[in-house]
Amino acid sequence: MNLKSLWATILSLLLIVGCSRYKISLPSPDQKGEVVIAFQNVNLVPMTDEKIVKNQTVLVKGKRIVEIGSSKTVAVPANSKLIDGTGAYLMPGLADMHMHTRDNWDDWLSIWPVSPFNLYLANGVTTIRNFGPEEGSRNYVLGWRDKINNGRLIGPNIYTSGPIIYGPVLNPQKTVRKQITKGYDFIKLYSFLSREDFYNAMITAKQASKYTAGHIPFQVGLQDVLSEGMDEIAHVEELAWEFVDFDKTKGLTGGKWMTYVIHTAYRQFKPYLGLNLEELDGRYGKAALSLARKVYAADVPVCTTLFLDEVIVEKLSEPERFLSKPENRYLPRSYIAAFKQGREKHQMQVRGGEDFASFKRRVDRILLKYLKEAGVSIVLGSDAGTGWMGLVPGFSIHEELRVLTENGFTPYEAIKTGTVNAALVTEKMNARGDFGTLEIGKRADLILVENNPLEDIANIKKIIGVMAAGRWYSNATLKDMIALK
Ligand SMILES: [Zn+2]
Repeated sequence: MNLKSLWATILSLLLIVGCSRYKISLPSPDQKGEVVIAFQNVNLVPMTDEKIVKNQTVLVKGKRIVEIGSSKTVAVPANSKLIDGTGAYLMPGLADMHMHTRDNWDDWLSIWPVSPFNLYLANGVTTIRNFGPEEGSRNYVLGWRDKINNGRLIGPNIYTSGPIIYGPVLNPQKTVRKQITKGYDFIKLYSFLSREDFYNAMITAKQASKYTAGHIPFQVGLQDVLSEGMDEIAHVEELAWEFVDFDKTKGLTGGKWMTYVIHTAYRQFKPYLGLNLEELDGRYGKAALSLARKVYAADVPVCTTLFLDEVIVEKLSEPERFLSKPENRYLPRSYIAAFKQGREKHQMQVRGGEDFASFKRRVDRILLKYLKEAGVSIVLGSDAGTGWMGLVPGFSIHEELRVLTENGFTPYEAIKTGTVNAALVTEKMNARGDFGTLEIGKRADLILVENNPLEDIANIKKIIGVMAAGRWYSNATLKDMIALK
């Protein structure tokens, strides 16, 4: 046995040991890129344009797409692994561009019924962007990112910010510099930063050309966030606070800001809580368009996280329906127990303000409408991952897509938010946005689905198989990976 094959044997043994929890044999990565995987006779959904290209063959070697062309002309190398795609549709893998990892993912057995990594893959989510790992001495997410990159861990490709910079912060410059040194992909800024802390954090990040994204700090406001050059807004809902007239100079700290702004909002919105979508559009549409135009002029993308609005309303008004959803069996058991006891996060926070929750849901829909109309780049994100909000990793991204198509997006436009637009922000973030379309040279992140996703967004849920960075998971493997024991 030569050294090379010895290493291959050790690596595959490690993988088998590492995956023994799943009691199935997972596909081993072909890091050396010697084996070609050929998808034959597929209907290609390249996402470079709104089109389907019939009878195509796609060759994958290592982590990359190396050839795309007519099945009649592409030469498939001997010994290739063949995947018959006759009648099926091959599209780029999806990205959840706003989610949160937790360090309990490592030891998920005690918390989650199934590993969140597997939930993502099984839903065709091949990229996740962590909008804030937990603070701690152990930079767990950087380790996972690197392990997945070099094939030692199964999961979607990870991009990550450093721990959230909430505010107040003792030394924003030092905090930002520390995160940059550790190798995080971007800086996440939060609602409670003072003007001074926000500016200092921004200046430090800008000097290092580091990407910044986050909430609109209450003391700063949209106008100054844009003029300081924050690269991305973390939620559509961030813009809703611009409709509230509150005192930005009030001497508050931390979470007290949230309480103050929400109470002020509730008081000011009270006469309008009963307005339907159309009436709300009449009242706030013009202002929403003006905000959206500012965001567009600054070339700042906005993450969606809109399904969460629906989940909050459902948790409060139809708890039985929430509990009976099949995918919610994948939520942490302790979360479900807390929910049944009425101790869940939003049950505690929003109780008594149910009308406000559904009002805010409608306001966010209006904001989405005008962000789209103004041409702002919308980026797909669900805010899942913590397990404590009622959002199931992976499954929630399909709900997010559904919400978009129910609010003026065609399936193509919706898919774009989780593929093309996701890659564009990643490219700006760290020049590694080499995914999101099916083109030669792109990372081989793919979903093979039964029916045309451009006709009906729900078709993406009928998955034949998923490829993440060149590693293929058949439907049977994926089912095993998320089987509830
Ligand atoms: Zn978040």
